[in-house]
Amino acid sequence: MLLIYPPVAKPSEPPAGLAKLAGALRSAGFPCTLFDANLAGLEHLLAKPLLDADDTWSRRACRNLKANQAALRSPALYGNLDRYKRAVSDVSRVLALHGKNQGIGLSLANYQDPTLSPIRSADLLQAAETPENNLYYAWFSQRLAKLVEDTAPSHAGLSVNYLSQALPAFAMAGFLKRHYPHLPIIMGGGLVTSWLRHPGWSNPFSGLVDHLIAGPGEGPLLKILGAENLLPQATPDYSDLAKNAYLAPGFILPYAAASGCWWNRCSFCPEKAEGNPYAPLATDRVLGDLDSLAGQTRPSLLHLLDNAVHPALLQALTEQPIGIPWYGFIRISEMLCDRDFCRALRRSGCVMLKLGIESGDQKVLERMEKGIDLDVSSRALEALREAGIATYVYLLFGTPGESRQEARHTLEFVRRHHEAITFLNLAIFNLPMASKEASELKTRDFYEGNLSFYQDFEHPRGWDRQKVRRFLEQEFKRDPLVAPILHRDPPVFTSNHAALLQQGCRFV
Ligand code: SF4
Repeated sequence: MLLIYPPVAKPSEPPAGLAKLAGALRSAGFPCTLFDANLAGLEHLLAKPLLDADDTWSRRACRNLKANQAALRSPALYGNLDRYKRAVSDVSRVLALHGKNQGIGLSLANYQDPTLSPIRSADLLQAAETPENNLYYAWFSQRLAKLVEDTAPSHAGLSVNYLSQALPAFAMAGFLKRHYPHLPIIMGGGLVTSWLRHPGWSNPFSGLVDHLIAGPGEGPLLKILGAENLLPQATPDYSDLAKNAYLAPGFILPYAAASGCWWNRCSFCPEKAEGNPYAPLATDRVLGDLDSLAGQTRPSLLHLLDNAVHPALLQALTEQPIGIPWYGFIRISEMLCDRDFCRALRRSGCVMLKLGIESGDQKVLERMEKGIDLDVSSRALEALREAGIATYVYLLFGTPGESRQEARHTLEFVRRHHEAITFLNLAIFNLPMASKEASELKTRDFYEGNLSFYQDFEHPRGWDRQKVRRFLEQEFKRDPLVAPILHRDPPVFTSNHAALLQQGCRFV
């Protein structure tokens, strides 16, 4: 089987989904070939000469391209934030110029075609019918043809996780369908899961895609391939992907100890709206996997992909450190207020925690069913700061329970804890169509597309997106204690590179 990870997604680490599928398929005796077309497509574009770099910035970006790519793969760059930012923006500039030549908005994390929308199924089918219009076509048509001819796969699988991958994924599927009509096409991944779990989903892709898979793909894929018995979950197989030169100063090992979320209660959360079940691996199993993957891939950093790492796993990591620096998302709880525990976490290799604090107003948090207490958040941030663990704090503005006053409470909270908040992610609330709240609010269509997940709504307190945006730009981001935190954020890569930039968290 041929497993493809289409462009465009941040190219800092290998696609975990492909490694997981490869582990499952190979342990069941099914051979597979992994093709990270995201990284390979990026390298292909960046190796192409650009003839129309005619302004100073573009000329500098082209001149320094090779040096910048090499620097992004070496630890030294991550010790100098300004140089790091310049390297990322110069590489992005070159990509943008390649995109512009074909009318595509291209970056290290996005692919935007002004004529086709990834949230409209008719446009995705159009991308499949006219793959030659895709920016990557000249390259992927040759690469896919060679892969199919060399490996004679029984099926082709595309792992589509982000909207930024959807148009290239469909162009690739269209190319395969046109040239290899007998090769069944399978699509899965996070984006496909969201489509399939959406209430009222009816499949518009049946003429193109033979199988669409929601959720973890190993079981359904093995069934499609004709496996007689489903084996217990296999360890991900990174043997092919670990050789690739991702844009990071060492191999970053992504690993998911669970799918779904053990809390699964936050009212704004797509995981909950989609009804994705929580399916954890046993803690011993996780530690065993990490030990063997660390031996095989020699990672510089472990990225725990769980929506919220379970407290039992956190405890186990402190008791049996895995010997690799790591970071991941966790829920704030009393556990993190224990200074000894935070120090033990740091000793376990924890360099950064991503924390969904969301709001600095207790009532707003309660309405979200976030299940966290602001006093606990305050003490946890302080304990983490003291332990030397960086924090990437996620805030959500414009929820139905918020008004300007509550948003200002959030600003005050951040100001109070500015020394303990290393990075900040600011998001404006989107109302998931399938959420309980959607049925309680006055809604109207938000995006023009039948594959949209969100709905616009009339804010019950008049705190609409425009006002929220103005507050963020004119008040929140300009605050003298907040601005330095935002300035620290790695452009494009954000949390994927944040731990690497942190003094004291530097890995080698
Ligand atoms: S903790 Fe995160 S993943 Fe879990 S329900 Fe809340 S927002 Fe969703």
